Amino acid sequence: MTQTDILIRNARTVLTMDDAGAELANTDIRIRDGVIAGIGSGLDPAGAEVIDAARHVVTPGLVNTHHHLYQTLTRAVPGGQDALLFGWLKTLYPIWSRFGPEEIFVSAQIGLAELALSGCTLSSDHLYLYPNGARLEDTIHAAAEVGLRFHPTRGAMSIGESAGGLPPDALVEREAAILEDCIRVIDAFHDPREGAMVRVGVAPCSPFSVSRELMRDAALLARDKGVMLHTHLAENDEDIAYSEAQFGCRPGQYAEDLGWTGEDVWHAHCVKLDGAEIDLFARSRTGVAHCPCSNCRLGSGIAPVRAMRDAGVRVGLGVDGSASNDAGSLVGEARQAMLLQRVARGADAMSAREALWIATRGGAEVLGRADCGQVAVGKRADLALWDVSGIESAGSWDPAALLLAGPTRVCHLLVEGRAVVRDGRIVSFDLEQAIRNQTRLARALAERA
Ligand SMILES: [Zn+2]
Repeated sequence: MTQTDILIRNARTVLTMDDAGAELANTDIRIRDGVIAGIGSGLDPAGAEVIDAARHVVTPGLVNTHHHLYQTLTRAVPGGQDALLFGWLKTLYPIWSRFGPEEIFVSAQIGLAELALSGCTLSSDHLYLYPNGARLEDTIHAAAEVGLRFHPTRGAMSIGESAGGLPPDALVEREAAILEDCIRVIDAFHDPREGAMVRVGVAPCSPFSVSRELMRDAALLARDKGVMLHTHLAENDEDIAYSEAQFGCRPGQYAEDLGWTGEDVWHAHCVKLDGAEIDLFARSRTGVAHCPCSNCRLGSGIAPVRAMRDAGVRVGLGVDGSASNDAGSLVGEARQAMLLQRVARGADAMSAREALWIATRGGAEVLGRADCGQVAVGKRADLALWDVSGIESAGSWDPAALLLAGPTRVCHLLVEGRAVVRDGRIVSFDLEQAIRNQTRLARALAERA
């Protein structure tokens, strides 16, 4: 077992994200058994490993609420670089259909390590295709190696091309088999307890790749099992047009009719929610995973995050899949979220502090993790320490510089009190080997494409 009795000594600034929004100067944080045991000055270091944090801003670990980790193997694929969502998907589906367990495992390792280096301690993932024997646990095993807290969701597609859907038939599954496998992975891996390292969710891919029946049955199953629900919703204009043509209603109505609103539901993107849908999400406590870089990359639009937050909608951040970003930097995503609201609404539309809150506490709330997302006694010891003595921070007057300037890489990262990153390097597993594996697999896929 790695050391988890730690004293973070004399942190320059701690952005706690607690209920009072406290920002503490020259502060110690004591960690014991994976939990924050004390915050103050001059805390007793007896028995603890000491981390000198005089050069660091400490934040809660960032929380990623939407990803497709498997896509780190298909970044910058030529045919998908400049396409809109549906054309982009059609370019990539045939490549993804050649994946198997090794591709899923290695690409998850890489994606999670990339997230860790950008300050992320808790990530969800949305795996919705299972070719050639791939299984959800391929990603769960990768997360255990990297050491991040992990909320994998059992995604699915069931309407292939021959039935009028978008994905090729080879990538879709029978709906009965999907539900059976959801039950299998929940029973095997879901941990509802406080401090859980793995929680499983149910996540049909999108309204345009599964049936109405599967959406409804998935919601019933998730509620029966006490797990969360996740999907893509209202991503762009094509998505809205599809909903209106196929279902005769907007996505918000579709979601509500099928049981897809509530505190146990979060939807990715929601770029095109209208005023009534924003009210619906606020009223029903439905969560949103805002993915600004992906929305820019695919030209989907600017999600109305300011209006959502003002209405009381719960919003977290997501990097989205690494084929539609194509980066996986969560702190970069927080900066982009701040910038994009300013493009839409002016320079006072979102502060750096608000974007950081969304990236930490906001994401934790969307994922149902009251035990994470803030630096407070009794919360899990998921912490990001940012070294602000380097070039990106030189001349900064305020910790808001974290998003306005940098750094873009975390210095130390603790998850459940265990070190995942030390001095800017992944220490939990052999990242260099994983990169070699990933490069080999990507080359093999490119040769066959
Ligand atoms: Zn997505």
